Amino acid sequence: MTTAFSFELAAADGRARTGLIRTPRGQIRTPAFMPVGTAATVKAMMPESVAATGADILLGNTYHLMLRPGAERVARLGGLHRFMNWDKPILTDSGGFQVMSLAELRKLTEEGVTFRSHVDGSKHFLSPETSMEIQRLLGSDIVMCFDECPALPADDARVAESMRLSMRWAARSREAFGDRPGHALFGIQQGGVTEELRGESAEALKVIGFEGYAIGGLAVGEGQAAMFGVLDYAPGMLPEDKPRYLMGVGKPDDIVGAVKRGVDMMDCVLPSRSGRTGQAWTRRGQVNIKNARHADDPRPLDEHCTCPACRNYSRAYLHHVFRAGEMISGMLLTWHNLHYYQEIMQGMREAIAQRGFAAWEDAFHAQRAEGDIPPL
Ligand SMILES: [Zn+2]
Repeated sequence: MTTAFSFELAAADGRARTGLIRTPRGQIRTPAFMPVGTAATVKAMMPESVAATGADILLGNTYHLMLRPGAERVARLGGLHRFMNWDKPILTDSGGFQVMSLAELRKLTEEGVTFRSHVDGSKHFLSPETSMEIQRLLGSDIVMCFDECPALPADDARVAESMRLSMRWAARSREAFGDRPGHALFGIQQGGVTEELRGESAEALKVIGFEGYAIGGLAVGEGQAAMFGVLDYAPGMLPEDKPRYLMGVGKPDDIVGAVKRGVDMMDCVLPSRSGRTGQAWTRRGQVNIKNARHADDPRPLDEHCTCPACRNYSRAYLHHVFRAGEMISGMLLTWHNLHYYQEIMQGMREAIAQRGFAAWEDAFHAQRAEGDIPPL
């Protein structure tokens, strides 16, 4: 077992890469998809079930955990890994993005952000220094810099001003993070959809130096074409020998398109959130289990899928438990969705290693274009 954090590229095919991140908590195969465990749980899943889907790492949300149950409490109880019974690596976000999207009465200054909790109205302060301290208390393996992300569309002047603040905060985050062997700090590139600003941000981050680099400020409503437009150049601005993490992405075809453009890590609530609303993601596209067409269908959701939902239950059962509001509905569909996402990642890792990514991608899109199996 290693005592250091490291990243090793094993193969590349075009701009797509596969490799391995080593941490004292275990290895992360890349490209990697990270399920989101917002409040110290991937909703509707036992941690051992999350591991069974093939996930090597989870994401935890600093904003949620600092408000409830509180970072000091988690630390007293042995840290987030022990608290939630997940012994593999955990990445925590900085809280910056969710303060902007969830908190009330925010006040942003050069120093940081003062806000009121959306849970109980209590007053809090987040800055690069407090975010580093909270993520240290949680025991996160991969810590994210505290940054600010303006909602798009925003004009270039606003995006530039915000990005430069985030770069000053990145330097303060690096300073506050200190020397923590075995733990990594990732910088976050900002700059909206403007190539020049993305370049300026990348240069600022490289001067500071990080163990990995995230592409932030995307998947905030700009649409897939604009996102891919940025991903056509943004990953290439970041160091070749460090992991690149695209934050908050996405749908299966977003993920495949991002990996094709040189992204190594991603996270998204979509597979778990969809699982709780009756939406399944399959190799033949999206399936709405609520639809009446499934009520008498004895076939599995996906006959090729080896997850428990597909192996042991019919579409008719999944339809019934959703309609009846039974908890097992969210459990089974979340499991299936996370399993399917990990299968995509595994497929891409193998295809890249064999220099067959283009053929794999063609097959991925062809299967989706067929659509769901016809009703009986
Ligand atoms: Zn399945």
